[in-house]
Amino acid sequence: MRFVALLLFLTFPALLAIGQVQDYTLPPALETDAADSSLFLQQGSEQTAPQEIAPGIFKATGFGNTLLVTTDAGAVVIDTSMPSSAQAHRDLLSSVAPEAPKYIIITHGHGDHTGGLRTWMGSDTKIIAQRNFVEFRAYQNRLGGFFARRNAAQFGIQLPPEDTPDSAEAQPAPEPAPKLPLVLFDDSYELKLGGLTFQLDHMPGETYDALTVWIPEKKTVFTGDLLYTSFPNIYTLRGTRPRWALDYVDSLERVMALKADVLVPSHGEPIIGAEKVAAALTQHRDAIRYVHDATVAGMNAGKDVYTLMQEITLPEELALPESYGKVSWSVRGIYEGYVGWFDGNPATMYAVPPSSPFPALVELAGGADPVAVRAQQMLEQGEEVKALQLADAALVAEPQNEAALRVRLTALQALRAKSENFNEAGWLHAGIRATRKQMQDLEMDEDVPSTQ
Ligand SMILES: [Zn+2]
Repeated sequence: MRFVALLLFLTFPALLAIGQVQDYTLPPALETDAADSSLFLQQGSEQTAPQEIAPGIFKATGFGNTLLVTTDAGAVVIDTSMPSSAQAHRDLLSSVAPEAPKYIIITHGHGDHTGGLRTWMGSDTKIIAQRNFVEFRAYQNRLGGFFARRNAAQFGIQLPPEDTPDSAEAQPAPEPAPKLPLVLFDDSYELKLGGLTFQLDHMPGETYDALTVWIPEKKTVFTGDLLYTSFPNIYTLRGTRPRWALDYVDSLERVMALKADVLVPSHGEPIIGAEKVAAALTQHRDAIRYVHDATVAGMNAGKDVYTLMQEITLPEELALPESYGKVSWSVRGIYEGYVGWFDGNPATMYAVPPSSPFPALVELAGGADPVAVRAQQMLEQGEEVKALQLADAALVAEPQNEAALRVRLTALQALRAKSENFNEAGWLHAGIRATRKQMQDLEMDEDVPSTQ
């Protein structure tokens, strides 16, 4: 009896917590998710009416979509896009749901899904998220200064000076924002509303708070960022905690078991038809498992991370576009996700950067000018990355060397012209902007060839 009482004592608080509404304050650095960029405003800006994916299921298109399900008892919104798109999405969807929604389901805590939370709130609207949402938002907030800079570079966002804090102390204390009514769950949660069932399942992948929404009456599943048309961003250049490839595989398998007729992602277009849905899920699962298993096999065979980044490519039948995530970044993400940063070379375990010998080597080469000439030759031979690295080496030795700055700019532009990846292009643009700024500060003329 005492044992039963103890068991009840231990489990009851947890049971109570599931599905209870609690007050939630958005962490200050994320209150606005500041990310206004023409990149994000472009998508869907020509949309003049909600897109009806299936009867009662609507989409407002953006860089992140806002999805809305109507029921006899009110609407449910799934994801709320970026802050910059939120009001336009609400206006667009008001023709099918003039009242505030009863519930907002957040598929995960990234800013392109939570940006419209306040825009959509009504007096009795409740937000539902997976339990890790709170910790995930706290993690993003803890690194708010870091992610603000990285997001600005990757997504081409122009940050005003006050939004690039050098330290937390530099920021004025934000006004405490009104609290939000939040419902959290662990593994799964069933919501019944207006004759529909919304089955929410914890499906870690891109984030560890990710969830999917399954409406059995409509055989429709909402998958958040579990899959998009590109190979997934198992590592994102902006920086992230490891995203576990095997979590993606497991989650994709569990979505496959639902046998949905309609799959609605939070980026891009829905997939309609059971066969197409199954084919897309299978391809993603198999592609991720292939990259994971090849990386692990290479690690066990003693191969270094760069070798594996070069060697591992998807077989033709699994090939997915690499327009957002990249296989090579994922290989490195999986490798370092498992074992961290040390590569086994004694020279790399000290607090001395790999660039420290560059000034001595550049001096031996006769200075930064001849190094820039060699870099230009590499560029002309189609070796843009090596040319960029050599220009960087010259600039470590002589940061204001004009020939090295020019060849750096040209190498970045050449890589940008070739790139078909959104995030890679973002970082190349960031490099181009920074190099141009340095050249302007030196009053250099950009058009003069680097080796004159
Ligand atoms: Zn997203």
